[in-house]
Amino acid sequence: MGLTRYSTNAYGQASYQYWSQPVPKKVECMTCGNRYDERRRQLGYNFCLDCGEFKAIQERETWCRVPLPKQGYTLVTRKSDLLHLNQKTR
Ligand SMILES: [Zn+2]
Repeated sequence: MGLTRYSTNAYGQASYQYWSQPVPKKVECMTCGNRYDERRRQLGYNFCLDCGEFKAIQERETWCRVPLPKQGYTLVTRKSDLLHLNQKTR
């Protein structure tokens, strides 16, 4: 999948079609104001890829809170930490 594509026109000449490709529209991110591909918004995202990654991390944090006997709830963001905890409590 490249941006360039060669094809043959009616006169048998190879034509270079790169510049005739439609430029993807950019829309502004609702969260940070960055421009991102409109096709992403059509998928239902009103934020850019960076903010999408940020939100995904936030979401992960909500289900990574694990109760510890003495410290109460502790935020664990890495799976390795969870595995480590399991070994400790046993
Ligand atoms: Zn953004």
